[in-house]
Amino acid sequence: MIDVIDLKKNFHDLEVLKGINFKVEKGDIVAVIGPSGSGKSTFLRCLNCMEDPTSGKIIFNGVDIADMKVDINVHRRHMGMVFQHFNLFNNKTVLENIMLAPEYVRCKEAKKLKTGKSKKQIHEEVKNEAMELLKRIGLESKADVYPSTLSGGQKQRVAIVRALAMNPDVILFDEPTSALDPEMVGEVLDLMKSVAAEGMTMIVVTHEMGFAREVANRVIFMDDGRILESGDPKEFFANPKTQRAREFLSKVL
Ligand code: ADP
Ligand code: MG
Repeated sequence: MIDVIDLKKNFHDLEVLKGINFKVEKGDIVAVIGPSGSGKSTFLRCLNCMEDPTSGKIIFNGVDIADMKVDINVHRRHMGMVFQHFNLFNNKTVLENIMLAPEYVRCKEAKKLKTGKSKKQIHEEVKNEAMELLKRIGLESKADVYPSTLSGGQKQRVAIVRALAMNPDVILFDEPTSALDPEMVGEVLDLMKSVAAEGMTMIVVTHEMGFAREVANRVIFMDDGRILESGDPKEFFANPKTQRAREFLSKVL
């Protein structure tokens, strides 16, 4: 599904990604771990076209999305993203947050394909799906409130179902539980586990080593802009091959 080839990213003369090679198959759950500043967020942001790579290729569903000529919006809607700080629209209700992107995309598609569906029909359709998603996380009673009234765990669960509402091929998570109070981490991890169990392809930057070990089918360890190790989580945690990974694990486990 995703094939990253020799991806490099510089900010001026700072080399942040120094040649990343990485493949993801449909249904993979990849945990990305590594020290702060090693380039994990920059890597995810390149995958999602929020940063332009300096060089290299990112083949997503057969198209090089690192190529400036492709329409990144078309690709981005197949890639969900969940951030550390939720990034909900604070001036929109919970329901509006979930509906905004799918409604926009479906109205555009209906126009282009001349399906004859009215804006109102699409609105109702997207609303029903959004309410189903809120039910799934037990927050249907919060549909009409603003995000500022939610707890961190509730905000992040809304952000996750907002990503699901687009029916993406893959969801990228950048430290989704790092900004949460400890008692809220579990509810977010549980939702991520249930999304994983449904077969969603996921790339998760995380400091939750339990999640990496139990849920991921692959771990990649990044250090200083490179992937130093990539492999089976149980093997990696039991037997890291590099000194850097051993040092890192001794600090976080
Ligand atoms: P991580 O997510 O692993 O902590 P980041 O990808 O956030 O690492 O950052 C990697 C390096 O790139 C850091 O040295 C950071 O300061 C630098 N960096 C990240 N984004 C920018 C930017 N927009 N401009 C300049 N430097 C940046
Ligand atoms: Mg980061």
